[in-house]
Amino acid sequence: MDLHQLLQRRFGFSSFRPGQEEVVQHVIDGGDALVVMPTGAGKSLCFQVPALARGGTAVVVSPLIALMKDQVDALVARGVRAAGLHTGLDSVTYREGLDALRRGELEMVYVAPERFTPAFIDQLRSVDLRLFVVDEAHCLSEWGHDFRPQYLQLGKVRAALGGPTTIALTATATPEVQADIVQTLGIGSCKRFIRGFDRTNLVLDVMEVDERAEKEAELPKLLTQTPAIVYAATRKNVERATTALRAAGLRAGMYHAGLDSHERTRVQDDFMGGQLPVIVATNAFGMGIDKKDIRTIVHYDMPGTVEAYYQEIGRAGRDGRTSRAILLFHPSDKQVQTFFIDNAHPPAEWVHRLYDWMLAQSENPLFASTEEMAVALPEDAGERSVSSCLNILIREGFVRRISPQDRLASVTVRKDAPREDPSGLRAAVWQKARQHAGLPEVAVAFSPDQWCRELNLTREQLTSALHGLVDRYYLRFQAADRVGGVELVQPQVPLKLDERRMRQRRSHEYTKLERMVSYTRAPCRRRYIVEYFGEVAPFQRCGSCDSCRAGVALQPTVRVPTPDEEIVVIKLLSCLARMERQRNQPAWSVDLLIKTVLGSKEEKVTQFGFDLLSTWGVLGPEQDPARWTAAELQDIVRALIEAQAIQETFTTRRIQGKDRTYREVSMSDLGWQLLRRAAPGFQMTFPHAHKLVRKRPIAPAAGAPPGDLVSLLKDVRGQLARDDNVPLYVVASNKTLDDMATLRPLTRKSMLAVHGMGEKKYEKYGSAFLEAIRDWTSSR
Ligand code: ADP
Ligand code: MG
Repeated sequence: MDLHQLLQRRFGFSSFRPGQEEVVQHVIDGGDALVVMPTGAGKSLCFQVPALARGGTAVVVSPLIALMKDQVDALVARGVRAAGLHTGLDSVTYREGLDALRRGELEMVYVAPERFTPAFIDQLRSVDLRLFVVDEAHCLSEWGHDFRPQYLQLGKVRAALGGPTTIALTATATPEVQADIVQTLGIGSCKRFIRGFDRTNLVLDVMEVDERAEKEAELPKLLTQTPAIVYAATRKNVERATTALRAAGLRAGMYHAGLDSHERTRVQDDFMGGQLPVIVATNAFGMGIDKKDIRTIVHYDMPGTVEAYYQEIGRAGRDGRTSRAILLFHPSDKQVQTFFIDNAHPPAEWVHRLYDWMLAQSENPLFASTEEMAVALPEDAGERSVSSCLNILIREGFVRRISPQDRLASVTVRKDAPREDPSGLRAAVWQKARQHAGLPEVAVAFSPDQWCRELNLTREQLTSALHGLVDRYYLRFQAADRVGGVELVQPQVPLKLDERRMRQRRSHEYTKLERMVSYTRAPCRRRYIVEYFGEVAPFQRCGSCDSCRAGVALQPTVRVPTPDEEIVVIKLLSCLARMERQRNQPAWSVDLLIKTVLGSKEEKVTQFGFDLLSTWGVLGPEQDPARWTAAELQDIVRALIEAQAIQETFTTRRIQGKDRTYREVSMSDLGWQLLRRAAPGFQMTFPHAHKLVRKRPIAPAAGAPPGDLVSLLKDVRGQLARDDNVPLYVVASNKTLDDMATLRPLTRKSMLAVHGMGEKKYEKYGSAFLEAIRDWTSSR
């Protein structure tokens, strides 16, 4: 059977979607593959077709029972012999599945990653396994948004299964996540299929406002085409934006987690049904909604990552018609996101406190709301931090959430309940509640799923009847997800947290936030997004985004800096290098660097003695005629970061009990090479280049003071010492460097004449110094 026949007969599809066939062919031929395509692109087919075409059995790893069930059900309905082996099954069904697998009757078996016990792996080894599939593969990266520790063992599992042909799939994987996937699974030579991130019918705009308050005025003007979604970062901003829209005469509904579920459902239905043109929502809205004709998506606040932004704007124009996505941006948007990041990454100490509190409770599993758990944390911590601490405990395997189907809700029959029975479905639920509760005013737990089964209701019907009874004063009701059960998995083991990793995670979030901020400066928005995901954009310019339309030149272009520009770069770098050396601290804030090069006398600068550095004031008005402003230098530093001459880090320090994260910069290897003039062909964008245009190149007089050279040699020494992890004087003493600067040796022989430069030292370090002197001499 050829591929198209197989597609037709077994899946009922007449043709492949873009990108599918290539993957399918590659995997059928036995090649490993990493597939990154957006949600809905049709990734499942990319492994399902090869699974059938290759024969034998394919193992599919999938993280969620719900996902597994959907896929298995759909496959079985088409006559594919597939089964899922997961904890949601009763023991009989599970056994049957396992037996079928052993007898080699399954074409596809879906399993959760925690299923791979040594015993199960053993059983799989006797199966004719021809394909190993890892769906939602981003779960194995700690940098992904949905890290699951059990995914980490999949590389070993794959090896234990004899390294079968492997295909990993995900919808969101930045290049670093992709690298993690490939490395963890051990499929280094896999072919990468990354496509579909370019949404050609989306017009991407960024509108930057000078003041936050302008957003309210601008927003209504942007909604020229509906249906539209307006996303805001907080409930408060959802309310603000809605008020602004209504004041402008637009019909807009609100959607956020603070509204009760009826209200949310009503607003969502109205929007989906077309009666409501605009919905203003937090990111709680949109999962699984499938409305094809959304014309406009406005972000009232900037999201925290490009992934999140991409996912949200991706809901526009599903029908293929031109649609607009506009980011209303104010630089302070970043602070809201930093606040979220800080909340999501609480200090380790808080996690310990929560865990100790949980241990001290006498029940396990424990049913407590986040509100109740908040007593374990400092007063200002807030419920969000409780959830974050819990998530960390779960991630580290100390706590398990009680799965929703075992989770209990609670109901209280009111003493003052009306005499007459309620009508409709509510009657049955009321009777059930009374039987179950016994005494009035006593809260009792119950299992909603069980009630649904016993009363033959859907979950929605039950919830709606319960809410009806609450509204009519029959009872009080607390939904299951508000009660939240957790189980301490290993209460006898002391809690250990890897604080370094916790900090790394946090700083990674910061880096992603920076990438989102960079989007607002992108010379072509669509290209920026496509490249963010590691896909190669087939164009320089999309031609449709606001940057392209405004003809924002792809300037400033990446190019070799002019000699004048290079001097500015070198001044910045050598100042940073000196700051690092002066205090033996590897990273400093950009602000402090700029204050120092501008020659500020603020205490911030003097307290570290930076006013004594030779580079203090080198770009200030007295020494540099360009009259740089701090903002311009900020831009140049940013460009150096983009060019990787300066490294950006986010450092977390504890200030008054709260962790705060600062953006800092340090020298990169490339930065050191630039200082040593050892990075020929270095390219960067140079912002504000016009400031240097009329300036005469600084041509130092012949016989420039060797002080210049001494500091260059010191930088070289610093780098060498760092590389070898030895103190500076081991590489060369100050006297040696002074001597070198005076003699300026250009050959081995003359170098050996320098004070303190013996054969041994020459062998190790001589050539680096020679090179620096040669460069220095030839650039004069
Ligand atoms: P993803 O995993 O990439 O999010 P799915 O594999 O779940 O996407 O596919 C999304 C939808 O597209 C499914 O309903 C699937 O049946 C459908 N689909 C996938 N490939 C094709 C095709 N070649 N022809 C028609 N429909 C397809
Ligand atoms: Mg999928």
